[in-house]
Amino acid sequence: MKFPLLDLKAQYESIEKELKERVSEVLDSQIFILGAEVKALEEELSAYVGAKYALGVSSGSDALIISLMALQVGQGDSVVTTPFTFFATGGAIARLGAKPVFCDIEPNTFNIDTQKLAELLELEIEKKGNAQIKGILPVHLYGQCVDMKPIQSLAEKYDLFVLEDAAQAVGSEYLMDSEVKRACTLGDLGILSFYPAKNLGACGDAGMVLTNNQNLVDRMRLLRVHGSSNKYMYDILGGNFRMDAIQATVLRIKLKHLDSWMVGRQQKALVYDGLFREAGLVENGLIQTPEAVYRDKGIKYFHTYHQYVIRAESRNDLQLYMREKGVPSAIFYPMPLHLQKCFAYLAYKEGDFPESEKAASEVLALPIYPELSEMNQELVVTTIKDFYADR
Ligand SMILES: *Cc1c(COP(=O)(O)O)cnc(C)c1O
Repeated sequence: MKFPLLDLKAQYESIEKELKERVSEVLDSQIFILGAEVKALEEELSAYVGAKYALGVSSGSDALIISLMALQVGQGDSVVTTPFTFFATGGAIARLGAKPVFCDIEPNTFNIDTQKLAELLELEIEKKGNAQIKGILPVHLYGQCVDMKPIQSLAEKYDLFVLEDAAQAVGSEYLMDSEVKRACTLGDLGILSFYPAKNLGACGDAGMVLTNNQNLVDRMRLLRVHGSSNKYMYDILGGNFRMDAIQATVLRIKLKHLDSWMVGRQQKALVYDGLFREAGLVENGLIQTPEAVYRDKGIKYFHTYHQYVIRAESRNDLQLYMREKGVPSAIFYPMPLHLQKCFAYLAYKEGDFPESEKAASEVLALPIYPELSEMNQELVVTTIKDFYADR
């Protein structure tokens, strides 16, 4: 009765015929890099997200890099971000020679704490006169948007750019000045990842940058092809950040289903919420179910549950127990970025970001996908209940 953390095969079966036909057409065309399919995807996704421009690129990580390159981030610059994220967020800043400056998260959403961010910017920019801080890189973790209004105000106050890492939040919505907006339209530019396990996943690596800023998109269009405007003429230093046509074709087919898949995820999340409450695990404080802070605010995709992440008492022992019982789970992420070996030179230490460190020791992601059966959800919750009862 084994079932996986994420069942991509179930999704594949529902669209297999169309995928094979369309991919076969791309094979027949023998046009593999950029081209009409990528352009069509860019148009469809910019319309879907509500941004003027979209640029298909090679991965979410590369989308971060090309965005920061377009913003001319480099040596001597600092970018503020969360230490509780996938590595690529901080890695992109550091790979360009800039310095990642970390700011702790809020415990309920796991997203960057805008109050702490305000304090950090006040201390660094106003008090210390730090002129190196150029931008803010918020991450919409697990599929729930960062509280972007305060971020926008801080960016205006200190003249900083805002780059949204929406790799886990394609389609997620936020109420900005009573207007419903999707992730990637809440700052200067935003990135998506189409890594296969993301909510909109390709059949390989792919990513996208979205923006309303024409200067930035013009620049990125060059950067994507080694900085070349004309064949073999290089205006600026770029790289190979291109998306391929097969990925674009796959993503165009999947995009049509994305809204219904997100609703499916939300339904599974509701079922988990209810099962945990019924089991009494929330009440006695052993489990905290994820808080959807924008629920009932009149937005449909208030959380798109890329992951359904609980906090659990004795998390590591619980995970071992679940593994023995054949119940899958995962830890996103076991170590915050400020404690990673490769960032030792930044001279952060344990205790610097207590909420991120606490989250790293408590979070547990449970299986969630539209095709997940209620029986398996019950099995997940029963197993967790048994663990605490057996102790
Ligand atoms: C997946 C992910 C990325 C990187 O995307 P890739 O397509 O895997 O390169 C960046 N940031 C976050 C938060 C992610 O989850």
